[in-house]
Amino acid sequence: MKKSSIKLRLTMWYTLLMLLMAAVTLTFVMAISSSVANQTTLDSLDRTLRENALQAELEEELKIGSGFSFYRSGIYTLVYSKSQALLAGQLPQALMSLSLPFENGLSRPVETEQGDYYVMDLWLPCGWDDGIWLRGITEISQGAETRANLLIAAGVALPLFVLLGALGGWFIVRRALRPLDSMNATAAAINEGRDLSARIELGEAPEEFSSLVGNFNRMLERLERAFEAERRFTSDASHELRTPLSVILGACEYSQKFDETGEEREETIQTVHRQGKKMAVLIDQLLQMTRLEQGTEGLRMEALDLSALTEELCREQGEKSEYLKLDILPGVRVRGDRLLLSRLIQNLLDNAYKYGKPQGRIWLSLGRDEGELRLSVRDEGEGIAPEQQEKIWQRFYQADPSRSGGQGAGLGLAMVEQIARIHNGRMSLESRPGEGSTFTLHLPDAGAEDVEKI
Ligand code: ADP
Repeated sequence: MKKSSIKLRLTMWYTLLMLLMAAVTLTFVMAISSSVANQTTLDSLDRTLRENALQAELEEELKIGSGFSFYRSGIYTLVYSKSQALLAGQLPQALMSLSLPFENGLSRPVETEQGDYYVMDLWLPCGWDDGIWLRGITEISQGAETRANLLIAAGVALPLFVLLGALGGWFIVRRALRPLDSMNATAAAINEGRDLSARIELGEAPEEFSSLVGNFNRMLERLERAFEAERRFTSDASHELRTPLSVILGACEYSQKFDETGEEREETIQTVHRQGKKMAVLIDQLLQMTRLEQGTEGLRMEALDLSALTEELCREQGEKSEYLKLDILPGVRVRGDRLLLSRLIQNLLDNAYKYGKPQGRIWLSLGRDEGELRLSVRDEGEGIAPEQQEKIWQRFYQADPSRSGGQGAGLGLAMVEQIARIHNGRMSLESRPGEGSTFTLHLPDAGAEDVEKI
């Protein structure tokens, strides 16, 4: 079943609601107007009768003043004797056949076949046991005319109002839901064109939509980053893997073509092995990098003793550890991923061994400084030229590939920087050519509570 549009549904709902409200209001107004009309009729009947009472007198005979009105504004006034004989005035046709008992001061409705009337009587005493009755009669239908007029007005105005309301509402709903159309169009464009760089532009929009669009755009950003990382990974990896692969293929082809001596063959095998190992390391590093780039999920953040972790790593350096000079503040606790922090420290140590002075000393220090935690690795190597100090953090950048001993591919420091960022920290480098380099990890010194919290 085709789903009806939300705009149509909204419009239909509130139009229905408007009709309902109009009906309720109309009923209410009619009820009030009817009661007001009745009250007005009764008031004017009472007033006319009392005005006429001032003009009527019974002495020897009945005297009626000139201000007496037998018929005015739909009100008949009749004069009756004490014995209830009609003395003056004209009875409406509809009441001719009725005999209504007199009741002083009481107005009451009387129903006849030709219409409904209000009747009110007033007793005017004259002398000690004589007097006259005044009877006022008026038709109730006067209120009905007002009601009919009201109904006609409502019959014309209400549908017009409802129509206007429905149209206005339709435009408002359409305007309010325009961001949805824009989102839909962008999503469709992304889907068709596979252009993940597209973003939804809303301009001024209600809060609900801005936050939805904000989330949608952030999701697109993540997707784009993931796809971009994937693409870069493929391109960098294929580029970097091609070199050792060409060496392996070349060596194999040479070995097949030419009759190699046992020694040469041994050399070929060693080359293939070395290049194969290089490829394996590279693939491993590339995979780690991509995982890091894709975000923080998969991390195992825990409260850990960075001092103990650093000491443990230094102990594991084997014979190389004899060149290490440690200055580690004990009990430094941080919140972090044990594996990643170990990898960061190991990379810095590896570089210090690789690029430091042969058999030179390496200083590793951990402590608190200027409100942050600092872990530094300093070597006595040749240092890094100022113009290269920015570049060494880029992936695949090597100041001098021959110096990495064919082991690295320029990924180590890029990874180190990324791990620092994941831990809300940063890396810094101080290096003077010929004097050595100091790589420092800066981490926020979180309070003990923040570190331990789950
Ligand atoms: P790799 O060591 O695999 O080449 P890295 O990303 O670890 O890759 O380092 C990038 C480059 O930075 C290295 O090729 C080297 O030129 C330079 N570098 C890194 N550490 C040092 C250091 N301690 N001293 C001098 N140069 C260094």
